[in-house]
Amino acid sequence: MSSVKEFSVEEKLASLVTLQKVESKLDEYKILKGELPMEVSDLEDEITGLHARQTRVEEEINGIQEFINQKKEAIKEADALIKKYDKQSQNVKNSREFEAINKEIEMQQLEVKLAEKHIKDANEEIAEKVQLLEKAKKNIGSKESVLKNKKDELDKIIATTEKEEKHFTKLSAEAREKVEARLLHSYDRIRGNYRNGLAVVPVLRDACGGCFNAIPPQRQSEIRQRKKIIVCENCGRILVDNELNDAVEVK
Ligand SMILES: [Zn+2]
Repeated sequence: MSSVKEFSVEEKLASLVTLQKVESKLDEYKILKGELPMEVSDLEDEITGLHARQTRVEEEINGIQEFINQKKEAIKEADALIKKYDKQSQNVKNSREFEAINKEIEMQQLEVKLAEKHIKDANEEIAEKVQLLEKAKKNIGSKESVLKNKKDELDKIIATTEKEEKHFTKLSAEAREKVEARLLHSYDRIRGNYRNGLAVVPVLRDACGGCFNAIPPQRQSEIRQRKKIIVCENCGRILVDNELNDAVEVK
């Protein structure tokens, strides 16, 4: 496509009609898919977040388990010391020595009790987190099944429309190249303004094909001449005569 080439208004209008028809086709596919693409991507994001949270809780549980193992180790060491002191206490020479060893034993017993208390608390914490984890897993499971259903539904639609959609997407790109930038900008702006995505409409029964506002005969004749781009005074859509509109076929 050479950028030097100048198009007549008529050619420009025909290009706009082509573009409109092609993109209206694409709109139809979009409508078929409805909210599904957005719902699928929202669900995927949500599930990713839930998985990350699950991993965090699992890591927390591992951390607490590690803490419990350390405490168990500490108990073993204390028990070993107690055994050692017990043996020593059998060979003491005086009561002062005996008392000193007894104190050591008591201190180690206290260590054991403290460690056991820590283990008990930690186990309770783990139990809570495991419950949380079970809930999270169930939640992920149900979200995943909803996602699967929506994805299947979307895939079914895509499978039936993919070929046509690709075809019309290509046609849209080609048509866009034939419309000058400024006009394309207006077209996109008008198209974006209306839910039905119509920016180029024919005159139908003496009225704008977009908003059905009556168009005076003088203006209709100007539109038929195809000498300048005329927009509807009421809705701002680009108007073309019905013949030009019908002459353009997209398939
Ligand atoms: Zn209008």
